[in-house]
Amino acid sequence: MLATYAARAQDSRGRKHPEQRHAYRDDYQRDRDRVIHSRAFRRLESKTQVFTRRLSDHFRNRLTHTIEVSQVSRTIAAELDLNVDLVETLALVHDIGHPPFGHAGEQALDECMRAQGLFFDHNLHALRIVEYFEQRYAEFRGLNLTFEVREGIIKHSHDYSAEQFPQLAEYLLDNRPPLEAQLIDLTDEIAYLTADLDDGLESEIITLAQIRRGSQLFERFYREVETLYPAAAEKLKANETIKRVLNALAGDLIQTTRARVASAKVKTLEDVRNAPQRLAHFSGGIENDRRELKHFLYDNLYYSPELKRDKDDSKKVITEMFAFWMQHPEKLPQSYQEDARTSLPQTVCDYIAGMTDNFIKEQHRTNCG
Ligand code: MG
Repeated sequence: MLATYAARAQDSRGRKHPEQRHAYRDDYQRDRDRVIHSRAFRRLESKTQVFTRRLSDHFRNRLTHTIEVSQVSRTIAAELDLNVDLVETLALVHDIGHPPFGHAGEQALDECMRAQGLFFDHNLHALRIVEYFEQRYAEFRGLNLTFEVREGIIKHSHDYSAEQFPQLAEYLLDNRPPLEAQLIDLTDEIAYLTADLDDGLESEIITLAQIRRGSQLFERFYREVETLYPAAAEKLKANETIKRVLNALAGDLIQTTRARVASAKVKTLEDVRNAPQRLAHFSGGIENDRRELKHFLYDNLYYSPELKRDKDDSKKVITEMFAFWMQHPEKLPQSYQEDARTSLPQTVCDYIAGMTDNFIKEQHRTNCG
């Protein structure tokens, strides 16, 4: 049973190109399947999340991170009686617009674009992928996803103003997205904050003692685990703690969101859309814990000297390949030639953003080696 304010497939604002209903899958289930069968989704496997393959081949990549976000999101959505199929679709598609090499790649690509008076934004790129670059249907370009999935892609992490982005006006920019979309940014954080503690420890870039000092949330649960399992190996105590941290974040998100929905007297999806603020939230205390943990990871892991070498290499590859195709547009694949005549920097950016780490490195070796 869905909550009265959940998004229902039968009430969807629909697809740009009307399609016949499927015999036994509703529209959000079909969208989920379209995302999973897309080329951009398969490429997530060879895109860096935080750690490059140089460090280990069992650390998270963008695909395994995406699967973890999907799993956390589905659990939370089910507990809140939200539409699990829509949440799953939004989780699976949430990182599809990321360029190769994680955050460093995104920054480098954005810098290349800014030098051209343009910019790179992974949410907008994700929308371009599902609307334009994926080609699987004879009748139209793109995946022809429902309005709510496209809206969720745009709104999952932040709001865009209609003034600045007139091309997004159709996405009801003055309204909140459905709760299913509001969850994704928070479940993304739950997934990566806990996963990066795990991989960060394993990489030995951060230590247990450092985390215990840097995160009160972690320390609280670590003490509990130590009392329960004093003789357990340190790594297992860390795992037990990370599991409890994840559970605390997820449980708090469920409870706080439920309470905010109740106190705002939200009954319908329209109420969710018209609420002055997003309703999916952590409580004040856990929000502080989340922020502390995030800052800890930024200071000690994401900006660590150990990861800097990979980041510098990544930036160099992206910057040099951007310059290469700007100088040699004739070397772009045939399928990009027409777009390149409209805007060369945008086309080079789109081409690079779609690549896996391996593919762009290979291109770099061939063309700039
Ligand atoms: Mg993510």
